[in-house]
Amino acid sequence: MKLSYQRYDLKLKHTFTISRSSRDVVPVVILKFEKDGITAFGEASPNVRYNETIATVETFLSKIDIEKLSDPFQLEKVNDHLDSFGTGNASAKCAVDIAMHDWIGKKLGVPLYKFFGGEKEKVPVSSYTIGIDVPDVIIQKVKEASRYAILKIKVGSPNDEEIIKAVRSVTNKPLRVDANEGWKSKEEALEKISWLEAQNVEIVEQPMPASQLDDARWLHERLSLRGSKMLIIADEALAYHDIAMLSTAYNGINIKLQKNGGLLKARKLIYTARAHKMKIMLGCMIETSISITAAAQISPLVDWNDLDGNVLILNDPFHGAINESGKISLSDAPGLGVEK
Ligand code: MG
Repeated sequence: MKLSYQRYDLKLKHTFTISRSSRDVVPVVILKFEKDGITAFGEASPNVRYNETIATVETFLSKIDIEKLSDPFQLEKVNDHLDSFGTGNASAKCAVDIAMHDWIGKKLGVPLYKFFGGEKEKVPVSSYTIGIDVPDVIIQKVKEASRYAILKIKVGSPNDEEIIKAVRSVTNKPLRVDANEGWKSKEEALEKISWLEAQNVEIVEQPMPASQLDDARWLHERLSLRGSKMLIIADEALAYHDIAMLSTAYNGINIKLQKNGGLLKARKLIYTARAHKMKIMLGCMIETSISITAAAQISPLVDWNDLDGNVLILNDPFHGAINESGKISLSDAPGLGVEK
């Protein structure tokens, strides 16, 4: 039995800008777990928003007692061990959890979507993300993304109207927007959302800072009272509040394996959110086909996919689920179904 891991720098096709940061290179950690002649893969894509770096991932992984991974079928026990080091470090935990699932699928000879009871025909079409930029570049990016049926536009900057007008100058597609906590008050959020409703935007992700749950509830009530069809989704807030609390302030949640700690925890969130009648988006960080394919394997259980992290990079070291213009195809290879 062996656990090993290595840093790998993902190079982005375009500088990726959201309301709080801008990046050209995203370092991740690729994890390898070997047991009984089976090699399984996992990945951590650490995010500074959640106080994670490559160093925190490596430190976390160095603490793992490999004997606790000796029976990967015991997913609860493995996750209990990971959580015994405290909260946080979700991406490092995710790397181990994905590898355990990959190993189980390979051991059983079944693709993970079958292990989860899903149908691969029900994988939702993925949106394609357009980062914050100047109008000319936005127009260029939207044209380049013409084959994608659903676009997700990053907003939350002072130039939101300019950005959406640029998008609307070249396409009438339904849009989803993600403010990444960029609007600082409930009044600003309501004003922006009212304008976006008239632009045929159907979903707004994380309008205000995750901590402003009372403001999100105020916004939710205002929109409900006026019969708005706009759906407000919690993303960053899902790292800090439980679903029962979020269900009073949001229409849905955005689950990410890297943010929420892997496949076992993601499945629990899915079933809990369903119990609260919430909509579910499955999202991603900038990550390789390991993590994207892992997410695709549970995605028959959700409403919307936003799994484009691997198509935004130039040097994906793995092949897995294939994203053809947003339509994601899973193979029937056992486990994750990814290879180098
Ligand atoms: Mg988001």
